[in-house]
Amino acid sequence: MSATHSHNSSSRQAWTPESWRSFPARQMPRYPDETALSGVEARLRRYPPLVFAGEARRLRAHLAKAATGQAFVLQGGACAESFSEFTADIVRDTFRVLLQMAVVLTFGAKVPVIKIGRMAGQYAKPRSSDTETKDGVTLPSYRGDIINGSDFTEAARIPDPKRMETGYFQSVGTMNLLRAFASGGYANLHEVHRWNLGFVERSPLAQRYGELAGRIGETLDFMAACGLNATTTPQIDETEFYTSHEALLLPYEQALTRIDSTSGEWYDCSAHFVWIGDRTRQPDGAHVEFLRGVRNPIGIKVGPSTTIEDLEQLLDILNPADEAGRISLISRMGAGKVRDHLPPLLEKVMATGRTVTWLCDPMHGNTSSTSTGVKTRSFDAILSEIHGFFDVFEAAGASPGGVHFEMTGQNVTECIGGAHRLTEDDLGERYETFCDPRLNAEQSLEMAFRLAEELKT
Ligand code: PEP
Ligand code: MN
Repeated sequence: MSATHSHNSSSRQAWTPESWRSFPARQMPRYPDETALSGVEARLRRYPPLVFAGEARRLRAHLAKAATGQAFVLQGGACAESFSEFTADIVRDTFRVLLQMAVVLTFGAKVPVIKIGRMAGQYAKPRSSDTETKDGVTLPSYRGDIINGSDFTEAARIPDPKRMETGYFQSVGTMNLLRAFASGGYANLHEVHRWNLGFVERSPLAQRYGELAGRIGETLDFMAACGLNATTTPQIDETEFYTSHEALLLPYEQALTRIDSTSGEWYDCSAHFVWIGDRTRQPDGAHVEFLRGVRNPIGIKVGPSTTIEDLEQLLDILNPADEAGRISLISRMGAGKVRDHLPPLLEKVMATGRTVTWLCDPMHGNTSSTSTGVKTRSFDAILSEIHGFFDVFEAAGASPGGVHFEMTGQNVTECIGGAHRLTEDDLGERYETFCDPRLNAEQSLEMAFRLAEELKT
């Protein structure tokens, strides 16, 4: 191996919130103004945490249940949140669709659904290429609003540390709203059930969707008639909602990493759940080193290039005590690869007796470009990867832990297919994503209906 060999699991030095700095860090911006950077870092270190360690521990316990089929995870939200598209409506609509999907999935899976938003901090993006060329001009790539600007100008693309502070405060605002929605009655099951079922009529599966929606409605009416209401049963009015993002921008994550006063352990208090992306999961890299020392539940994206050796090494480094709920492996193989690439990894993890929660991200292996170069994903490919994922688990006698979507509560046109049969020609209508294409509100809900049927059988 390379010069970084000294950083393997047995010879690692003690972890500190900044020990990642002596490891090679991919995808990290180089800030031209180091004084400005340290100023921002110092201020962020003093700001209050966004989440509390006790909440992250609670999520860890829920995820442990999902590892054995006693709960099911629904993780979803934008590929990239942005600074310009930040309104109460956008937060509310994504929250509402996630809740609606969760109701449908609860009905299908007959187990509690753990809701995790890609929200309140999902601002940093890994990029396949360091540069972007348009009309003969080459500029550094856009890396998410917490790092640089998306405008195609030289000035916008310079990494600016002040963006970390903006990202922090926007996360605070988003979090505040999410907490209010989750506990203040907005999550009322009867309200959530008032979903927009426009897609039902248009779908060739109208009858099946209609039946399922009808049964959920009847169940809620029955519960109400039995006297189960928000006063007798707080669960009707409230929900637990967790936040997550990719732990990509390590100076930011480090500044929000705090010691929990009750356990004396370190938590990354920027979100309940943080994950390592497919491009930064090198066992000898800085991102793995950073996440090794925080006690949050963490995710690892597992793609077609993940080897069994890498995966074993990652599990050794990140979860040496094999604690259930600590690791979620987020498979993102692509519809055409999941049936070949996932089984050996799953079997190996099972053979080593390790407890992990497996999630299916059917988005990132299914991105394609239209003839005019617009990034899209097809509803059918997404669904097909989920089918493949479930089949692999069934064949192995294991429990799938949940799903991970890029979606929005807005009526955008970014993914093709679904009951409205969006085509490539429709993409221009409302293509608003700052990064990858997302399922819109109806496509998301329709996906939940399809999944619920799958889970029932
Ligand atoms: C993402 O989740 O937006 C992402 C970049 O995924 P991956 O690391 O799996 O490519
Ligand atoms: Mn993405």
